Amino acid sequence: MKKIKNDNFFYKIKKFFFDKEKNIINKSDIDHIEKILLSADIGTNITIKIVSNLENRIKNDNIKVKDLKIVLKNDILNIIKNKNKKSLLDKIKISKKPYVIMIIGINGVGKTTTIGKLSFLLKQNGYNPIIGASDTFRESAIEQLEILSNRSKVELIKQKIHSDPASVSYDTIQAAISRKKDVVLIDTAGRLHNRVNLMKELSKIDKVIKKLIPEAPHETILILDANTGQNAFEQTKNFSFFTKISSIIITKMDGSAKGGFILKILNEYDIPIQYIGTGENLSDLKKFNEEIFIDKILKK
Ligand code: GDP
Ligand code: GDP
Ligand code: MG
Repeated sequence: MKKIKNDNFFYKIKKFFFDKEKNIINKSDIDHIEKILLSADIGTNITIKIVSNLENRIKNDNIKVKDLKIVLKNDILNIIKNKNKKSLLDKIKISKKPYVIMIIGINGVGKTTTIGKLSFLLKQNGYNPIIGASDTFRESAIEQLEILSNRSKVELIKQKIHSDPASVSYDTIQAAISRKKDVVLIDTAGRLHNRVNLMKELSKIDKVIKKLIPEAPHETILILDANTGQNAFEQTKNFSFFTKISSIIITKMDGSAKGGFILKILNEYDIPIQYIGTGENLSDLKKFNEEIFIDKILKK
């Protein structure tokens, strides 16, 4: 719950001005805004940018309290714009097939659910995907994928529980090539607390799929849960330490979390956020939209 409060920085800013009957913002107000921003999940670097923008503006112009929201919105939009250029579907469209996508992230963030959603989206866009159940550690992951792939009518390649994840990936790529599938979605286990094993497992998958398609995986998507706040930033840091993340999907944006940490990630990493998860159904995957996102974090 604390994390969610942390996200509510604009509410705190509004409250600060509430009793003051102030019209024009001055330097000491900006100092206060800075303190509030620093206590949020959005990070120091982006706070410094926002604050110096505000300071420059009051040098040249007055900012009225009632206009603060639109000023902040535009400033934040400027900071994160152009960080979200390459859309996943565009990348898939122009690439050689099969386009191999690895899905990574810690346990419980929504990897398997998101694979179901992506396979559904891909089918709707005329593609013929195949899924590899390379999280062989959790029994439920294979069953979950069976249900999801039946629902989205997508072929699933699986082996028994505790079989070698890399071997499942190999089978999946082989099946994709022989059955002329155009996109491969590979589920993985997420044991970041056991970094050495996870790293070994991911790099073994990587090595094995390169035997069949040297340039694969074409895409590695990191899944982050909107409710984890600051920790999601740490996860991005940790995973990018040993793998090149090409895209991010943020799940559980249907809850109360606003995802202030997303600003920090967009500011500090050059990784586009492709989609957000907005529920548990196959169709609950929406394109990430910067403006809607900023409106959400500036709303009470
Ligand atoms: P994994 O361990 O990373 O594979 O995570 P799962 O896909 O098993 O998801 C963990 C839980 O999060 C499940 O109960 C999912 O239904 C739920 N979940 C995943 N994405 C979303 C989402 O966008 N919104 C909501 N409300 N729940 C989600
Ligand atoms: P925890 O019980 O969820 O904390 O699992 P750990 O990550 O501590 O793993 C315990 C042992 O189980 C590891 O040393 C591995 O041998 C095995 N193991 C754990 N996770 C995986 C996985 O994702 N894939 C495979 N193949 N084995 C795993
Ligand atoms: Mg899973």
